[in-house]
Amino acid sequence: MSARGLCVACWKYERGFGYRKGLRRAVWFCSRDHQVRFVKEFLMVDWTKEEDEMLLQAGKAGGEYLDSIGVTDLGRLNKTQWTMFLRCLVGRLAEVRPDWHRKWEAQIDSDPDDLALPF
Ligand SMILES: [Zn+2]
Repeated sequence: MSARGLCVACWKYERGFGYRKGLRRAVWFCSRDHQVRFVKEFLMVDWTKEEDEMLLQAGKAGGEYLDSIGVTDLGRLNKTQWTMFLRCLVGRLAEVRPDWHRKWEAQIDSDPDDLALPF
């Protein structure tokens, strides 16, 4: 059992589902679903197509910002512009991530075999 902390996947209180292999310290989860997700999607596989799609959407937001200021060479951005560019990327990623998370949970719910832990 772990000290009561937060699930690294969703920040709810963890409930004793841990993982440590290959990590400097154990991480904890609220559920088996989030434990499996972390191991499969953050430690054991490359970027998924869905994650790539999220990045492309985030990149589009950054491109829209660059278009709005008329600068396409990132090396020409001043600190304020660079910060705004990064805010656009991260902000769009935060917007699209919940949709991806819902799709992922629906996929897990529809395919219980996908919960087989690979360790
Ligand atoms: Zn969780």
